Order: sequence, then structure tokens, then C-alpha cells
Amino acid sequence: MIAIALAAVLQEPADVQSGLCQRALAAAPAYSVCTETPHGVALAMDRANADALARHASAGEARFQTYFARDIAPYAVTSSPTPLDRGALETAGFVHVLPWPDPEAFDRARRQGIETAARQFASSQGLGAAQADQMVARALVNGGAEGGKAALDAGMLPHELGHLWFTQAFWPRVDQGDEGVSHYGGPGPDWLDELAAVLLEDAPTTDRRRAQMQQLLRGEVVPTIGPVAGRDTLIDLKGFLSRAHPALARVQMNPPNLPAGGGIALVYTPAGGAPSAAAQERLFYIQARGFVDFLTDKTGRATVFADIAQALAGGRTFEAWLSTDGAALGLPDTIDGLDRLWREGR
Ligand SMILES: [Zn+2]
Repeated sequence: MIAIALAAVLQEPADVQSGLCQRALAAAPAYSVCTETPHGVALAMDRANADALARHASAGEARFQTYFARDIAPYAVTSSPTPLDRGALETAGFVHVLPWPDPEAFDRARRQGIETAARQFASSQGLGAAQADQMVARALVNGGAEGGKAALDAGMLPHELGHLWFTQAFWPRVDQGDEGVSHYGGPGPDWLDELAAVLLEDAPTTDRRRAQMQQLLRGEVVPTIGPVAGRDTLIDLKGFLSRAHPALARVQMNPPNLPAGGGIALVYTPAGGAPSAAAQERLFYIQARGFVDFLTDKTGRATVFADIAQALAGGRTFEAWLSTDGAALGLPDTIDGLDRLWREGR
């Protein structure tokens, strides 16, 4: 009896299996395929793409449970550029709608980004048109490193969902009538928000950030990060804990439709110039991963970031939380003490 029921469930295609996909396809009829995750859906134009997005999102959900142990509101990942009525999906109960570039849109944007960066660099160096063309051609050949779109999606889709889930879990949106939807008291500090997203990345992305952190701390230049003195930035924990997100201005002007954290573009910064915003952004992700590993290691507590977020959402500061809860978790009870511990042996 149980075996028969199970077989029936397994044979049923995912897109007719549940209410979530039915609701999503009714609200976004331009999509032909829907795949469910435990708390959301992935909408796409073909089964392989929908399944891949759902697989990455599901892995992110599991990690969110491990580190934050909070509910995830219904969400939809929508393969773009398919036309989409975001409001209809929200009305259908999807609290988060995350557009994600399909493979063709991704490749177009990648090539465009590489070409723009290469041309800007060529003109800053006073190179002629023919030399600029050569530089673009070379950059397009070299720009496909880092494992391609599938590898990027596996790390960056959970990352971007992490921002949404984390903010909603600890700073839930409230309907303010005529003034629209807003957050109570504003979401948490940038470092904690970024750390929450980095926590949901897959193992290869995590390994890459750890390796880059070690290289940078040794004073090496990492080509995919840019010619920056990464060690100075990474060792500065107080700077990390007080810094506005390097991508903040960009995000406010233009909400990202493309993942920013994967290092897909090449960095062209003349030697000796100020580190580019993109390089600073990459350092911020690496530092977030480093701080995650540091706090997890010192406390032995996977949900320590949920504790911190809960305290900050209640109006406390990180330092106040450290002073009351730090010692019991094996941490110093001040930021100064934490900073000293962070620098030890690095
Ligand atoms: Zn992020």
C-alpha cells in the first residue's frame, strides 16, 4: 500500500504535483516549466534549466536550515528574460521573486561585461582601435575561466536567495498601507547580510574563497580578484564590521539581475591605482567567508549567526551581544578582543 502510493508520487511530474507550481504557472503563464523545491519554485522555459535552478535553490534551503533554523517564505526563481508580471506572482503568495539569467542571457551579459571592461582599459592606456579589438578578443577567450555558468549558479543562486531569506526571517517586511512595504527598523548590518549569503554557497565556491583568502593573506596577487593589497583589507576586522557593502551604490541604482560574487568579469586596474569597486566587493565576500569560518571554529555553534541576527533585530549592537553572550561561546567580550584573536597567527 505504502509502496504503491510512493510509486504514484514518484511517477507524477513535478509541475502538476503541487499547489505551489500550479499557482506559479497561473501567475506567470509565459513560462512552460515549473520545478518545486521544499519552499519555492523554479520557473523556466525548459525542464533541464528549471530542474537545475531548483536543485541549487534546494541545496541553499538545506544550508539555511543548518545555519539559521528559520522558516523560508514561499519564493520563485524565474529564468530571465522571459516576460514576467512580478506583482502577479507576489499576489499568488510568492514573497520573493528572484530573476535569474538563462544560459543565453548569461553568456550575452558576460561577453558584454568583458568587452566593456577591456575597451575601457584600452582607452585609458591610449590604445588604438585595432589594439583595443585585439584586447577584447583576448579577454573573451580568457574570461571563460572559473568553471562557467553551472558552477556559478551552484554558488551564486543560493547566495542571492540567502540575502532574501535572511532579511525576511529576521527583519520581516510589513505592509505600511499607502507607503508600501518596508522593513522594521531596516535590515541588519552589511557584513552580517553578506555573511548570511556566503553561508549558503556551495562547497566549490566556499573552497575557492578559502584558498583565495590564504593567497591574499600571504601577500599574493590573485588575478581574478585584481591587483589589490588584499591582506591589508582582510586583516582589518574592525573595518569589515563597520564597512558599508562595496556594492551598495551599484545595487541601489540597479538591482542585480546578474550574480555579482562569482568573479566572472576580468579586473583591469592600472598598477598602483586605487582598488576598483569590483575588487573591493570580491574582498568583502572572501572576508565574510573568513569570518564565518573563524566564528564557527571558535564557538563550535553552527547557528551562532542566527543568535547574532536575533540580537541585532532586537535593537542590540554586535558589541553588546559579545559582552553578554560572547564568553559563554568561547569568544572575547569586546570587539577589540575579537580583533586581536582574528589577527593571531595570520
Ligand atoms: Zn551578496
